[in-house]
Amino acid sequence: MADVKHDVIVVGSGAGGAMAAYELTKSGVKVLMLEAGRDYDPKTETPMFKRNGEAPLMGAGNVDKDFGFYDATVDGGWTVPDEPYTMAEGTEFLWWRARMLGGRTNHWGRYSLRFSEHDFKGKSRDGLGADWPFEYDELAPWYDKTETLVGVCGANTGHEDMPPSSPGVLQTPPTPRITELLVAAAAKKEGIDLAPMHRAVLTAPKDIRSKCFYATPCGHGCSIGAAFQTTTSLIPLARETGLLEVVTDAMVRSVDTDDDGKVTGVTYVDKKTGKDEKLSARVVILAASACESARILLNSKSKKHPNGLANSSGQVGRNIMDSTGANIGAMVPALRNRPRYNEDGHTSNHLFIPWWGHQAQAKGELDFPRGYHFEIGSGFREPGSSVAGDLQGYGKALKDEAKANYGAYIGFALRGEMLPNEHCYMEIDDKVTDKWGIPVAKFHWKWSEHELNQIKHGLETAKVIFANMGADVGELPTPEEAILKGGEIIHEVGSTRMGESPTDSVTNQWGQTWDCNNLFVMDAGVFASNPHKNCTLTIMTLAMRNADWLATQMKQGVI
Ligand SMILES: Cc1cc2nc3c(=O)[nH]c(=O)nc-3n(C[C@H](O)[C@H](O)[C@H](O)COP(=O)(O)OP(=O)(O)OC[C@H]3O[C@@H](n4cnc5c(N)ncnc54)[C@H](O)[C@@H]3O)c2cc1C
Ligand code: SF4
Repeated sequence: MADVKHDVIVVGSGAGGAMAAYELTKSGVKVLMLEAGRDYDPKTETPMFKRNGEAPLMGAGNVDKDFGFYDATVDGGWTVPDEPYTMAEGTEFLWWRARMLGGRTNHWGRYSLRFSEHDFKGKSRDGLGADWPFEYDELAPWYDKTETLVGVCGANTGHEDMPPSSPGVLQTPPTPRITELLVAAAAKKEGIDLAPMHRAVLTAPKDIRSKCFYATPCGHGCSIGAAFQTTTSLIPLARETGLLEVVTDAMVRSVDTDDDGKVTGVTYVDKKTGKDEKLSARVVILAASACESARILLNSKSKKHPNGLANSSGQVGRNIMDSTGANIGAMVPALRNRPRYNEDGHTSNHLFIPWWGHQAQAKGELDFPRGYHFEIGSGFREPGSSVAGDLQGYGKALKDEAKANYGAYIGFALRGEMLPNEHCYMEIDDKVTDKWGIPVAKFHWKWSEHELNQIKHGLETAKVIFANMGADVGELPTPEEAILKGGEIIHEVGSTRMGESPTDSVTNQWGQTWDCNNLFVMDAGVFASNPHKNCTLTIMTLAMRNADWLATQMKQGVI
């Protein structure tokens, strides 16, 4: 075994891994980060200023680039070369992976909503799923620190579903679009309020990053650092301490243990040579993304850990949740032929529809637990291949019609809470391995009636709001038809959940595995529930808090 040169090995450079490395190096801890993907520098590689018109098929998505020709994801997407996964019969599950320094933070939507007290204690209210092993109040100061460091724009509106940030934490949100104000007026008639979306986008300059200039699609990546990604912020900031070393093309095969079952380090495949390398460290942190971290644990079997590492509870790979998702939209006649002006903004919605149903739910008026929100897609976006919608015809008449409709379409994307269920889990496929001989993940998935009832409610509510705008969404699909596939919202969480007891959870509230005190998980695997609010702000907040706790434990010699 190689000499210990680093105190901590962090596996993964995305939201969780980079935040853990940042916090530890700031505390004086030496960190080695292993990243399976290739090195990536957004400053030089991002096609930020490329236009769809310069790309084949007007930049439309294709098998290599699901999110369009200029999408920032490198070496990944729904399929990753050389890295298959499998599904049980009847399961449809999509698993998005980005194999690059920074992981999926190079590309994510940057929606950054805090979970609330309500969200952490769902089981106490309705008996379903699991509570988190701490209170919102304990996390609130860490949300403040994370929002400040990451740079989140938004506003405190007093909305019941959106806990406030401390004064001065949030950056000013951009002005609402005209389309969003129209939605706000239509929703108001149903007693539903809109609020500024909170997004990890700078509207004022910060540390080594510039502010947004509101003119380029954030999905291309953001070479000026306005849109948060770890490659333009946390990783360079951690490197400035001189305590972070990063090794890319390093695919971790297993976490290694000694005869007593204690973690000693990791074995990784150097993808450039194809050879296995062994490293030792005092502490290992897995932040390879929820399902990858669970895969590594399940593949790390030993005499002391025969069912996989940290799996004495049998919960590794269980309790996987994604957000529910459904899309609904229509052309709004009042918006046809409106004057053209620059309405780009910071790409995504400036206003959104937060969950409004807490009280109705408490009174038993809804037939589903938990909540959902609507993200709004609208405005004069950069025209792509779908600008004409499903119009038929040719020549000037077709062009005139497409021009009249341009900017008149409004879409709602529903994002809702899913409850864990026994049918949604992953295991190791004992027949299939990836290019490096590492056994792959096999997924099982089934939505329950909770999610289907929630989607039905969402579609019906959206139809009413659209009708209030004078728009007709047409006949509604059934919830079974409308609900997107498991994994498709790319918010998979829960595979190594935290809890109060080693019998029904994998880690304690610090992400420390119950079975090995020097092994931590700092990605969404530790989530005990998956509130409808997008998960990444909470991944980063937990990673910051838990890495701070770990640094203290190390300094005190407890670990
Ligand atoms: C298109 C899109 C839109 C999204 N929009 C939002 C949004 O608006 N809001 C939100 O909250 N979330 C959003 N997400 C989800 C968000 O990106 C993820 O929740 C977040 O990035 C997860 O962080 P992570 O650190 O767990 O994983 P990742 O960011 O995926 O990073 C994990 C890293 O670990 C590496 N790795 C994996 N396996 C190994 C191994 N064996 N050895 C070494 N390294 C390994 C990977 O290559 C990767 O770089 C979106 C995601 C996508 C793709
Ligand atoms: S709109 Fe703003 S945040 Fe998005 S890519 Fe452009 S400059 Fe960056």
